This record gives sequence, C-alpha cells and structure tokens, in this order.
Amino acid sequence: MLLADYLQYVKQRNAHEPEFLQAVDEVLQSVYPVLERHAEFRKLKLFERMTEPERLISFRVTWLDDKGDVQVNRGYRVQMNSAIGPYKGGLRFHPSVTPSVLKFLAFEQIFKNALTGIPMGGGKGGSDFDPKGKSENEIMKFCQAFMGELARHIDDRTDVPAGDIGVGGREIGYLFGTYKKIKNEFTGVLTGKGIGWGGSLIRTEATGYGLIYFAQNMLQAKGDSLKGKVCLVSGSGNVAQYAIEKIMQLGGKAVTASDSNGFVYDEAGFTTEKLEFLKELKNVRRGRIKEYADKFKGVVYQDIDAKADHNPLWALKADCAFPCATQNEVNEKDARNLVKGGVKLLAEGANMPTTIEGINVILDAGVMYAPGKASNAGGVATSGLEMTQNYMGQNWTREEVDDKLQDIMKGIHDTCLAAAKEYGKPGNYMAGANIAGFLKVARAMQAQGVI
Ligand code: NDP
Repeated sequence: MLLADYLQYVKQRNAHEPEFLQAVDEVLQSVYPVLERHAEFRKLKLFERMTEPERLISFRVTWLDDKGDVQVNRGYRVQMNSAIGPYKGGLRFHPSVTPSVLKFLAFEQIFKNALTGIPMGGGKGGSDFDPKGKSENEIMKFCQAFMGELARHIDDRTDVPAGDIGVGGREIGYLFGTYKKIKNEFTGVLTGKGIGWGGSLIRTEATGYGLIYFAQNMLQAKGDSLKGKVCLVSGSGNVAQYAIEKIMQLGGKAVTASDSNGFVYDEAGFTTEKLEFLKELKNVRRGRIKEYADKFKGVVYQDIDAKADHNPLWALKADCAFPCATQNEVNEKDARNLVKGGVKLLAEGANMPTTIEGINVILDAGVMYAPGKASNAGGVATSGLEMTQNYMGQNWTREEVDDKLQDIMKGIHDTCLAAAKEYGKPGNYMAGANIAGFLKVARAMQAQGVI
C-alpha cells in the first residue's frame, strides 16, 4: 500500500475523528519508510492493527451535585495496545474530551511508552466532566462515580491509569480511595499517588523536569546549554510549573505562563518566589493567571482569544519555546512568529501542541524540534518507576528517582537520534521517535502472533 492508501484506510474507518487522524498522519509520515523496508510488517497489517484500539470502553457517569440535581457525564477508557506491557496512560477531565481526543492520546502513548524502555502498553481515558467551578465535594462525588465503573476494567497488571489535564493529586486520591474500597485491595492500580500511600517521589515534577532534561540534551548535542536562554512556556498546570522550575535551576529564564483565558509576560523572568505564588494560585486556590500580573510589578497580562488566528504568546522574542498547555496550541502562523522571534528550539511538554503545518514551518526553518512523545515521556516513565516500586514494595529516594529520570530522558534522546540517522533523517527527533517507538511495538506484535 502507498502512504496515501494507509491514510485513506484510517480515514474511512474514523471519519469524524480529526485529532486521531492528525496523530496517525504524523506518525505515518515517519514510519512509512519502515513499512517499505519490512514486508513482514505489511503482511501482518501491523500499522492497521495499531490504529485500532484493542478495546474502547464508554460508560455513563451519574452523580449528584451540591444542589441535589442529577448530573450525567460520559466516561471512557481507550485500551489501545498491550504488546509490550499493561495499558498505561492518563485520565483527562475536560469538556473537550471525545473518543477522537482520547484515541489520539492513546495512540501517541503507545510510542511514547515504548521509548521509555519500561514495559508499558498504551492507553488513555477520561470524561467530558468540567472540574472548573465545582466544589470539593462535587469533585469527590464525580471521581467516586467515575471509578465506580472504571474499576471493573483495570487492575495493576492490566491497565494502570494516571493523571492528565484536570486530574491531579487530589483526583488521583479520590479515584484510588474508591478503587480500594470496591476491590478491597491495596495495589498500584493508579500512578501519581501521594507520598506515603504508594506514590513515587519526583512523579509530580517528572513531566516538566523531563522535558527540560530532554531540551538540555538537545542543546548539548550542539555544544550548547540552557544557560542564559530566554524561554517561552505556555500553560500553568503541572507540566508548565515544573518546566519553569527546571529552566530556572539550569540557568535559563522563563518569561511566560498561560491559562485558557490569557498569558503573562514577565520580562524579568520567574523566580522561586514567583513560581511558589503560581503553584499556590493554580493548585490550591484554582484562580486565573491574571492574578500573577496583578501581584508582580513589570508583568504584562494579555487575553488569549481562542478563535484568533494566532496566539500572541508565541510572537514574543525568545531562544526556546515549551508549549505545555494542550493540543494544537501552536499553529502555522504561531510557528512563523516563533521563527521570526529567534526561537532555536521547540520542545513539546503538552501532547501534540503543534499542528502538522506548524511542525513543517519549524523543521523547514532548521529549528530543533522535539515531539511530545519523546520530550514529555518523563511523566509516564516515572509512573513506570512508581509501578516498579509498588510491585517491589519499596520507596526510592528523590535522588534515585531523579537520576533514573535523567538517564531515561538521555536514553530517549539518543534512541531518537540513532533511529533518525538509520532511516536517513539525521537530527530529526520526530522521525526518530516515531520510528524507534514503532519498531519496538511492531516486533512485539510480530512475535505474539495474529491476535
Ligand atoms: P493541567 O490540568 O495541570 O494544566 C493544563 C494547563 O493548560 C492549564 O494551565 C490550563 O488552563 C491549560 N489548558 C487546558 N486546556 C486548555 C485549552 N483548551 N486551551 C488553553 N489552555 C488550556 O494539565 P497538565 O499540565 O498535566 O497537562 C498539560 C499537557 O501536558 C496536556 O497536553 C497533557 O496531555 C500533557 N501531558 C501531561 C503529563 C502529566 O504528567 N501531567 C504527561 C505528559 C503529557 P486552565 O487553568 O484555564 O484550565
């Protein structure tokens, strides 16, 4: 089959799933040369099989809000691929959640997890539930109702969910408590748990830290470093917060953060004090980013219009860009603005934050580009380390986990470069990540027969 035929095949079967098709298209562009080289993969229809979830579970979540009104949401778990380990991937609570969004995330997760070197398959789940404006009690009620159904489909050797947008430590706590009550067993069925009840040190920080470790590896490969680099960061949640923290620790200057309403530009750069304010604002008070500009002198706040043709955050002058909010937040025009503003490196903290057109602009301009499935894999890798600690009944120190995280990010970096080189795309991290991830899963599927 030609590349266009593969795409047509997936399009026909998933006609109304734009995010999923976008993710498949991106991977296919890179792995088509692998399919051309390996007749056995084509014969076994491995690509076709990888684009079909092993299982897609959809369920009703019914709960009572604080007024006593009945609320009905949709819950999902996409068990995408278990060739190399139990399904692993986060849960997202956001009104934009659809089967298409979760299938794109689960598909990406297959290759990301393969790159970490830890035996984990790909999965993703969540709900169209909107946590914004909900009381503490309502969040707990929803989590309990959600897990009431999900519990029958997961366990610590089958499918181990974690957090994602809208699901942080608080939600993982309520979900875990409900699972334990239903199953009457204390197992590592979720990752991102609290320290003291099965969680791993550094898991909270891991995605943001791992992203910056990855960027540091990319710069070092060119004889450079993060020291003195001006960095644009979007988002102000888990990934963004710890990316900013690690940028500061490695001598860079993070000058922006954002939420779904707007962004702040702090020319002087984040400091420890300012970051603590942001964490408290977002994690405890759950306020809007505008407050950061009200609190600190010299900070500019600007609204983001989701319908505008570009995001002004990406038009600022900088050396590095780290999109850490959500999918498709950097489009073609944003990418052109980044290039114009002098950006030399773009590493994705979020999943698929750059559109295909945006990626092409970035690559054509010779900007170093790291796809999320490589650069944000530190989160799931540390989830893998949490699973290992749970299986062993041990708790590793902060230093042990951080050392392992750094090694894993370096390993992913080197694996991407080696695969890219082997397939004639030297220095192309996107091609390298897709090819290396695909090869690992393809070989496992080949060995396990037609199932
Ligand atoms: P959080 O919920 O902690 O934070 C998300 C941030 O992005 C918030 O600032 C939020 O703003 C903003 N945001 C969310 N949706 C939109 C939107 N539609 N438009 C604009 N801004 C938006 O999530 P995480 O930090 O955990 O996740 C961020 C990204 O990183 C996601 O793509 C996720 O899949 C990815 N990721 C996360 C990992 C993890 O370990 N947490 C691991 C690997 C990838 P607001 O406050 O207004 O909602």
